Amino acid sequence: MTDTTMTPTVDAPHGGWNRAVVREVMHPTSRLVMIHLEVDHHMPHMPGQRYVVRLTAQDGYTASRSYSVASAPSESLVEICVERVDDGEVSTHLVDVVEVGDELEVRGPIGGWFAWDGVTPALAIGGGTGVVPLVSMFRYARELDRIDDLCLIGAARTFDDLPYADDIAQGCSVLALSREASPHGRPAGHIRAEDLAPHVEGREVFFVCGSTRFAETASSLLVDLGVPTHRIRVERFGSLA
Ligand SMILES: Cc1cc2nc3c(=O)[nH]c(=O)nc-3n(C[C@H](O)[C@H](O)[C@H](O)COP(=O)(O)OP(=O)(O)OC[C@H]3O[C@@H](n4cnc5c(N)ncnc54)[C@H](O)[C@@H]3O)c2cc1C
Repeated sequence: MTDTTMTPTVDAPHGGWNRAVVREVMHPTSRLVMIHLEVDHHMPHMPGQRYVVRLTAQDGYTASRSYSVASAPSESLVEICVERVDDGEVSTHLVDVVEVGDELEVRGPIGGWFAWDGVTPALAIGGGTGVVPLVSMFRYARELDRIDDLCLIGAARTFDDLPYADDIAQGCSVLALSREASPHGRPAGHIRAEDLAPHVEGREVFFVCGSTRFAETASSLLVDLGVPTHRIRVERFGSLA
């Protein structure tokens, strides 16, 4: 579903928490869920922004966690992708329990720093579920017919472990798979300078998203390749070591 009259914004959402009705649930693996939400008072997001999901127990206890948006700004349903963290309060509910028709409380879109404007030439590097905001960037670039302005690098253990692997592989110059060769023929191995070096020149902003260890590795590689630190925007989450 698309609404091309909506333009992305980094403004804070008005009105705080909103109701979101679950319209679609997909489990690409037993540990992942993709959820499409119909959000009351929906405002289009900038690719890279996130929503906060709040769960409330019957005794009134609440738990809130952030989830990056995977959908393009023009889509009327907000898509999130959640990886199950064993014993996690919120991810276990979203992955194991949530069904079509359920209602959640959300706040968003939020975040102006890790957001791509669709114009500035960018290199975006994601590990594991850290690719989720990159998928929104890719979908936006495709809609704007500006694929050349966004280079994606996705990292995971295997192709099947990478959420949205097909999207990432389309928009991607490199799939860095640590345990198997990539479909493009890259041998198995962790992300390294040779993966990034051909894609740095001409890029003005660099997005890095993944676990703390992944984010530190990818950021250090960029700095070693001469990228000024003020051009690197980092978001840390996800379990890929
Ligand atoms: C800006 C931002 C965007 C995010 N986007 C996404 C997203 O798109 N998809 C997504 O799945 N998550 C995303 N996260 C992470 C998400 O907000 C939660 O932290 C995650 O779902 C775990 O929450 P929980 O309540 O299930 O676990 P908690 O109850 O908070 O944690 C349970 C235990 O697991 C540990 N733990 C917490 N997170 C992890 C982890 N990732 N790996 C291993 N152990 C962990 C905790 O230290 C604790 O011991 C994002 C986080 C931020 C800050």
